[in-house]
Amino acid sequence: MDRPLDSAALDYTPAVAAATRAAYARVAHVIPEVEWPVHAPYVHAINRLKKEKNAVILAHNYMTPEIFHCVADFVGDSLMLAREAAKTDAQVIVQAGVHFMAETSKVLSPEKTVLIPDLKAGCSLAESVTAADVRLLKQKYPGLPVVTYVNTSAEVKAECEVCCTSANAAAVVEDIAREWGVDTVIMIPDEYLAANVARQTRIKIITWKGRCEVHERFTAQELRDYRTANPGVVILAHPECPPDVVDEADFAGSTSGMIGYVAKHRPARVVMVTECSMSDNVAVEFPDVEFVRPCNLCPHMKRITLPGILNALQTMTHEVTVDPAIAERAKSAVERMLRVPTQAAQRAAA
Ligand code: SF4
Repeated sequence: MDRPLDSAALDYTPAVAAATRAAYARVAHVIPEVEWPVHAPYVHAINRLKKEKNAVILAHNYMTPEIFHCVADFVGDSLMLAREAAKTDAQVIVQAGVHFMAETSKVLSPEKTVLIPDLKAGCSLAESVTAADVRLLKQKYPGLPVVTYVNTSAEVKAECEVCCTSANAAAVVEDIAREWGVDTVIMIPDEYLAANVARQTRIKIITWKGRCEVHERFTAQELRDYRTANPGVVILAHPECPPDVVDEADFAGSTSGMIGYVAKHRPARVVMVTECSMSDNVAVEFPDVEFVRPCNLCPHMKRITLPGILNALQTMTHEVTVDPAIAERAKSAVERMLRVPTQAAQRAAA
């Protein structure tokens, strides 16, 4: 039987302050001290409940810093989280991210309980395409494999040959084209990601009209204005941005790719053209780098909060389920993707 926390358990007591001191030290660079008494009781309660319930929290790079740095067990982009979901021994996974990510965790770990703190945490890309749309595409373009960005429902993944993320999309496109012996693939649902990938490969790409509502709002003029206002700034853009925005950037890559760029090059000043929390989370790791922070919020990611995560652990809701027959087919597309970097490494080593 779950033991609900009474409101006194969420007071900022000296004991809570002491227990969360190390957690605050990690985020002091980005969370004002005056705000910590609001977060600390939740951080303390969540970390205690996680142990009791044999649960892990998988947090996407777009989570707020108090989630990302203070309660998460694994952090990263969708690809990294999918891998951790497959590896963990924990019985319960709390997905601090959006619904398609929780579905992917469930698909890879059907025996585990997968929880999402808010069922309305969706994604404009995932909502732009249905399984029926994919079947129609296959009728229209017979003999071509379909690559689906991981930002889709399990039902859509089940209709596709392989998944990709923004970190591995070009490698996946080339890999599946080679396996099928074709020079064209269908890639859904993000038209901008597809256009940006098409410039990295000779494989022709037929795409869909989905867009990320966060990244489509950036404009090339905005990026030029960042440079004028911040001389010497290095601009990193996510490939879900329109191609003319990517053209204005110094580097384009997935969220993990952007972190890797900052770690390697240590620019004095940087702009990350992506969701707002990303810069806050990376700034914690690189206090010597100045982050200029124009950004766009993802309303879906921001539905995930510390109170929501605590409620998920206390009440074991909202459980994410996937029909086993669909899960089996979706898993094959996800696992096909997870094999691609390994195969690429083997080819490079050969
Ligand atoms: S940032 Fe864009 S792609 Fe990511 S969850 Fe939000 S709407 Fe979807």
